[in-house]
Amino acid sequence: MGMSVVTGVLVVKVTGRDFVATAYRAHGYLRSSGAGVFSRGRLKGDPTLKYARYANRGNQASAMAEGISSGGPLVELRGIRKAYGEMVAVDTVDLVIERGEFVVLLGPSGSGKTTILSMIGGFVEPSAGAVYLEGSDITRLPPSRRPTVTVFQDYALFPHMSVGSNVGFGLEMRRVARAERRRRVAEALRLVGLEGFGARAIHQLSGGQRQRVALARAIVVQPAVLLLDEPLGALDLNLRRQMQEELVGLQKQLGVTFVHVTHDQEEAMSIADKIVVLNHGRIEDLGSPDRVYLSPATLFTATFMGESNIFTATVSGRRNGLLRLRTPLAEVEVEGEAPEGATVHLSVRPEHIKLEAPPDAISLGEVTIEEMVFQGTHRRCHAVSAGDGRTDLLLRVPVEQAVHPGDRPEVFVRRRDVVLLAD
Ligand code: ADP
Ligand code: MG
Repeated sequence: MGMSVVTGVLVVKVTGRDFVATAYRAHGYLRSSGAGVFSRGRLKGDPTLKYARYANRGNQASAMAEGISSGGPLVELRGIRKAYGEMVAVDTVDLVIERGEFVVLLGPSGSGKTTILSMIGGFVEPSAGAVYLEGSDITRLPPSRRPTVTVFQDYALFPHMSVGSNVGFGLEMRRVARAERRRRVAEALRLVGLEGFGARAIHQLSGGQRQRVALARAIVVQPAVLLLDEPLGALDLNLRRQMQEELVGLQKQLGVTFVHVTHDQEEAMSIADKIVVLNHGRIEDLGSPDRVYLSPATLFTATFMGESNIFTATVSGRRNGLLRLRTPLAEVEVEGEAPEGATVHLSVRPEHIKLEAPPDAISLGEVTIEEMVFQGTHRRCHAVSAGDGRTDLLLRVPVEQAVHPGDRPEVFVRRRDVVLLAD
């Protein structure tokens, strides 16, 4: 007899039916504080009542999703915080998510991404603060009553059911009539590129196809918000890139709001309308991918979002509305605010350091190229500044530009590419 006991978000595996619990969780039929007993993939005993009740409320959730009206942000987190004893997983986060946005929560492991997603989905209750949907406080609403669906990294598919039954599961729970169900399942499978796969068994699918089934199962219930927790983490690099494009295409086509969690900054940049950079449970930066990459707000963002040259500088004065800074390389004048005498950090991306003076050029002085590696799209060079300082510099030189170890070029950067960081 297969049986699992679900306690919190931890599934205590009794005889290997934990996937069932996770699948129910994905659809919001179990919340983190709930407990259920499963047998042969079905909920048994007392929790069945709860499950039936949630299933009913599921109808309301989809009704809610369909009836979502305009005006004000779709989801709003106000001062949410989550602590586990001394451990603060999320520290007073304010976040506005607009309708139809593709939002990516980006941060290293342990930065609080999953906890924030789980508070939006209703699986984790905040220690403080509130979650609003269309201006209504939904902080205490169970997952099944929210117009949200979660796609987990492990997909949580029912292995003993066909592709079609997996995709139709949420509709069955919502008591959608068979004919309507069949139509919507076929449509969802078509949207994820699995037309005609309905009768297949899950074990006959590749990793990428399973990932698509999980997506189809989520979109078929027409959620207002799709929550994705590192959904591409298990795929190899090529497939991941392809799925990133497909996710964006799907999101734009459906117009559904996506909140996607990843620790991969390249993934975040290629799919997001808005990136939320997280570190130690706090928002470090928030904005469009190009803004966050080109003008990172903080030292953490500058180093986490790809490679960057970071310089420590001293504010030596102000002139013509520009801040004069003494750096280990040269004196530069940049836009920004800081008191005279203050120590600040500057960030310059490796591709912004030029061997020929661009318009609006600032000279960073002479450097010696120490190492050069051809990387197909560019040459990656390590250089050190001339003089006593020997400051390290990383450059990305276009392939058509000749550069050799031992060369001693003067290097330049455009003023707007020197970013003054907040600490
Ligand atoms: P991420 O998804 O960014 O890797 P999480 O949101 O899972 O991070 O976790 C943030 C922090 O909170 C981590 O340090 C993690 O260990 C801790 N944490 C998460 N869930 C729990 C829990 N149920 N009990 C105790 N600590 C937790
Ligand atoms: Mg996580």
